[in-house]
Amino acid sequence: MLDDIVPPPQLAPFKEALPAPQSPDGRANLIGLSREELGAIFAEMGEPAFRARQLWGWIYCKGARDFADMTDMSKKLRAKLETRYAMRRPPVSRLQESVDGTKKWLLRFDDGQEIETVHIPEEDRGTLCVSSQVGCTLTCKFCHTGTQRLVRNLTVEEIVGQVALAKDTFGEWPGPETGRKFTNIVMMGMGEPLFNYENVARALKIVMDPDGMAVSRRKITLSTSGVAPMIRRCGEDLRVMLAISLHAVTDELRDVLVPLNRKYPIAELLEACRGYPTLSNARRITFEYVMLKGVNDSPADARALVKLIAGIPAKINLIPFNAWPGAPFECSTPEAIERFAQIVNDAGYPSPVRKPRGSDIFAACGQLKSASERQRKSQPAADAGD
Ligand code: SAH
Ligand code: SF4
Repeated sequence: MLDDIVPPPQLAPFKEALPAPQSPDGRANLIGLSREELGAIFAEMGEPAFRARQLWGWIYCKGARDFADMTDMSKKLRAKLETRYAMRRPPVSRLQESVDGTKKWLLRFDDGQEIETVHIPEEDRGTLCVSSQVGCTLTCKFCHTGTQRLVRNLTVEEIVGQVALAKDTFGEWPGPETGRKFTNIVMMGMGEPLFNYENVARALKIVMDPDGMAVSRRKITLSTSGVAPMIRRCGEDLRVMLAISLHAVTDELRDVLVPLNRKYPIAELLEACRGYPTLSNARRITFEYVMLKGVNDSPADARALVKLIAGIPAKINLIPFNAWPGAPFECSTPEAIERFAQIVNDAGYPSPVRKPRGSDIFAACGQLKSASERQRKSQPAADAGD
């Protein structure tokens, strides 16, 4: 059955289809700049180095949007900054809210490309699901984003901008110490974060800075479909929590469901996981496993899974398949999910079943897909800005 729905793997070397947009008014955006880059701005102006620290605090700790608020700088300096720089957020073209409180922002950048960011409120936390690319080069068979071609990588500014937007929305600059609505980040939106590693890493370093947005690395989870050679580097540089989209226990099936497996098969992927720098029982790797009826959900699969990950401090997140129009799978029955979870749990691995959130607004895992596609030559930046 699977052979019918599987196109040949698309594992051509990654190449961006489009460049990132320029700011419409020509002013550079400060959101997304590092401490060093802010320092370079003031050095070039002949200003002392402490100005960069001041500006950093205004933009990433206090969330300033207007230079007029920066009262510890002279009016003249503020005016000068204003002619060259802005603190722009990604333009929101639509904000939807689910009956369960999940929010989904559709962001439309200056080049007309669109992505989605999702906020999932829970009792003790609020998680922002951040996108890393417009579309995706990979073609996982159960994922709606995978049916959309890659258009381009997101810039550092666009990734940090998604976080700034959440802080704006919930008034958390720096906000209350307790009861925050936005506490965690998952890099589980559109795109494969390890295929846009440089920008994702620079963005997360800004987001994690304790004197700025201050999201703890323990509250950030990066999810990858299995770009094995990048996993160690990600752990060494960022020390964030890692999630692996495993979804199958044999290469034969994983080659089909997650075509990247043909490049980095299960053994190589798990080897990379074993070498993940922060690994311990307190900081387990999450293996994500989408439950597909009759495909990967048998008790034998569960037993094979437990064997496969033996020795890796892990948690198995079972994700009921979220359907989308034309999807070639069905979700496993609740009984099959329960049986699978029990086997994994009995082997000593926590096996929470992820509750679908925001499915009424198509915000659940794997349902994100924007209208953006590679722009055709006949349509140069046609509808940008409308
Ligand atoms: N590209 C990264 C991160 C984005 S996808 C990755 O693949 O890990 C985030 C998670 O949602 C992944 O585990 C992915 O496999 C899962 N997912 C994709 N489509 C889904 C669907 N239709 N139903 C449930 N989970 C899905
Ligand atoms: Fe891309 Fe992740 Fe979807 Fe696979 S599951 S197509 S890697 S976004």
